[in-house]
Formats: sequence, C-alpha cells, structure tokens
Amino acid sequence: MSKMLSSLTYLPQPCMLSVVIPVYNEEEVLAPFYRRLVAALADLPGRFEILFVDDGSTDSTPLALETIRKHDPIVGVARLTRNFGKEGAISAGLQLARGQAVVIIDADLQDPPEQIARMVQAWQAGAEVVNMRRRSRDGESSLKKSTAHIFYRAINLVSEVPIAEDVGDFRLLSRRAVDALNSLPERCRFMKGMFSWIGFDQVTLDYDRHARLAGKTKWRYWRLWNYALDGITSFSTAPLKFAMYTGFISAVGAFVYALYFLSKALIIGDPVQGFPTLIVTILLVGGLQLLAIGIVGEYVGRLYIEVKQRPQYLLYNYQPALMHGAQAGGLAS
Ligand code: UDP
Ligand code: MG
Repeated sequence: MSKMLSSLTYLPQPCMLSVVIPVYNEEEVLAPFYRRLVAALADLPGRFEILFVDDGSTDSTPLALETIRKHDPIVGVARLTRNFGKEGAISAGLQLARGQAVVIIDADLQDPPEQIARMVQAWQAGAEVVNMRRRSRDGESSLKKSTAHIFYRAINLVSEVPIAEDVGDFRLLSRRAVDALNSLPERCRFMKGMFSWIGFDQVTLDYDRHARLAGKTKWRYWRLWNYALDGITSFSTAPLKFAMYTGFISAVGAFVYALYFLSKALIIGDPVQGFPTLIVTILLVGGLQLLAIGIVGEYVGRLYIEVKQRPQYLLYNYQPALMHGAQAGGLAS
C-alpha cells in the first residue's frame, strides 16, 4: 500500500486539456497562432498541454516549432516521418495527447482559439464531444462551398450515421471519446464520419470561421474529390448496391427489348436492321460494366489498404510537453 502511495506521489500533475494542432508547412502562421492560443488558454481553469503534430513539413516549420518548444515547457512537438495528411496527423495527436479532454484545432487561425473556453464549458457541463459548426465561411470560393454542400447531401443519403454539414475537425473530445476513436483500427480514416460514429453525448456550438491568416490551403479539388470518395466508401456500401441494381435494370431492359424485336420479326417479318441502336446499346452496356467494376474497385482498393495493416502514420520523434499548466512561455510574454 505504502509503495503504491509513493508511486502515486510521483505521477505528473493531471492534465485537463490537450490542444492538438496538425501542421503542414505553416511557417507564416505558427508564431501568431501560438501567441493567440496561449492568450486564449490563459484564462482557463486547470492544466493543459499544447501538442503540435508536424505532418512532415518541408519549410521552416520544424525550426519554428523547436523554438516555441524550447521557450515554453507546456508545448510538445511530434514529427511524422513524412506528410501523412491531416487525418494521419490528427490520429497521431489523439494517440499522444494526455489530457482529460482534447481539442483539435487548425494552425491557420481559421478556427479561433478563443472558442476553446466555450468548448471546455460545454464539456464541463457534461458533453463528451463538442462539435463546432461554422456559421460563416469567409475566404472560401462559392465553388468550394457549393461542392461541399452537394457532398454532404450525397453522403447523408447513403451513410449509416448522420454526418453534420459545416462541422470540420475543430472540436473537443472527452478522454472516453478519444479512447474510443483510438480503438478504431481502420487505415482509411474519414474522421468526420468517425467522430459521429462513436456516439456519446454530442453538443454542437456555432462559430464564425475566418479566412486563413496566411499561406495557402493544402486542399486541391482532386484531393477533396478523393476525400469525398473516402467518406462515402468508409461509411456506406450503397454504391455497390447501386451498381448491382443498375446492372439488374439494364439486364431486364435488354430482355424486354429482345422480346420486342423477336415478336416484331415473327409477326411483321421485319428484317433485322438498326446499326445505330446496336452500337449505342453496346457502348451503354460496356460503360455500365466499367462503372460497376470501378465502384467495386474503389472498395477493393480500400480493402487492400486495410489488409496491409500499415500504421496510419510513423513518428520521426516526439518531444512531450515537460509540464502542464497555464504558464505562458517566453515567446508569448
Ligand atoms: N494539414 C496537415 N497535413 C496536411 C494538410 C494540412 O497537417 O497534409 C494541417 C494544416 O497545417 C492546417 C490544417 O491541417 O493546420 C488545415 O489545413 P488547411 O488550412 O490547408 O485546410 P482547410 O482549412 O482549407 O480545410
Ligand atoms: Mg485552413
């Protein structure tokens, strides 16, 4: 018993909140982001850590992070071996975070750090997941907004769990929710869907999303398209059913069409003709077949990735925060 007590005495002080920030080539925004974050956290009760996950940046981001970490012991920095994508970086952050609650926030100041206080309040009032919904989306093109809208309509038609529109990765998760997410082994991680799949008491707060402070978004349309495919294939098998029913309907159609021609030939004695109909039908059926194979292929491709069982990310190194607390570091003061 006394042995147990003495080991308890040496446990580090419990950390209430971990702030996880995925960063990829954000040299321009890191310092202002860090200053605003520290200022926003200063009023919070309880101890916290700030955990930057450097997603294989190729600019001076690693250097900037190292400078911040050296000046401020509440900052931890994890570096991945290469760019694994935001989902990989978030997964790494969720695995490494030690807080009783974890907030995920972007480094480009699109998600205002001042909102964290409201999120913590909602968590302390009993919510296990606090989702942040954008009331406005400054600085985003109307094409991006409308494609995003169509995507959410499409995915919610087919997904087994509802996926909220205008809710990004900015959210707070309780320790139980983080553990639940960490226990999901999948490699194709469509986080937006996984956050709602885990369930728990979820609360949604509204906030105004601002334009990126500096630098460029890392999301090109091709990447967004693949992200959309990931989302749909991870949370629904509806496209497979769609392929099956399309095949079924075209086969029945072809059969009826054949009967029509047969009876026409028998009754009227119509000689066989119609090269255009023939070629159009062949192309249509060929196209449908390729489409169906393509859909199956999307799933098989993801099965292949899952079966390989590769980790979601590789850590190059991890320097944890040395202490937890509201002590603002040298850079902020
Ligand atoms: N990010 C990342 N890995 C990537 C792409 C982005 O860690 O491969 C980070 C990025 O540094 C930022 C956040 O994810 O902190 C959001 O990225 P971005 O602003 O480019 O996305 P958007 O806000 O346009 O959706
Ligand atoms: Mg952004």
